[in-house]
Amino acid sequence: MIRKCLWDESYIYEANENDNYKLLCKDCYFNIYKELYSDKYQWHDFLKNIETIKAKHRINELEKELAFYKQKLVSLDGNSETLEVECLFCGERFQVDPKEAWKYACTDCFKKFVVPLRRLYDQRTIKTLIVAFKEAHGNDNFELEDIMKFAK
Ligand SMILES: [Zn+2]
Ligand SMILES: [Zn+2]
Repeated sequence: MIRKCLWDESYIYEANENDNYKLLCKDCYFNIYKELYSDKYQWHDFLKNIETIKAKHRINELEKELAFYKQKLVSLDGNSETLEVECLFCGERFQVDPKEAWKYACTDCFKKFVVPLRRLYDQRTIKTLIVAFKEAHGNDNFELEDIMKFAK
């Protein structure tokens, strides 16, 4: 006798009268009922509530899919969340928020150079000064004093 599987109507199968999975195709009986639901539901309860269980099963699958895409989106957005900037002082590359793209000094150099220089010069002058200093002295290590001397 040919039957349509109760779990998924796209499955058609030949049923023996005595098979206890005769309302489901063999695949669905073992892969769905036995594997996933036999702990929770007795066979007759499963059959009685099959439409509800099917709906819940679909929701679970959609939720898994949603979580997967959410995860993908997070890593996608994560890439555009920071911007790489080169420190004008030490040349080290560091990450900043796009809103802070104006930053030209890493945290260390900011404390070491920018903070004291800010007392004497505005941002634009500091930048011009450092560029000129580095052009004159190369990219070697330098101290605040060297810049101060150069600025005079
Ligand atoms: Zn089936
Ligand atoms: Zn630096």
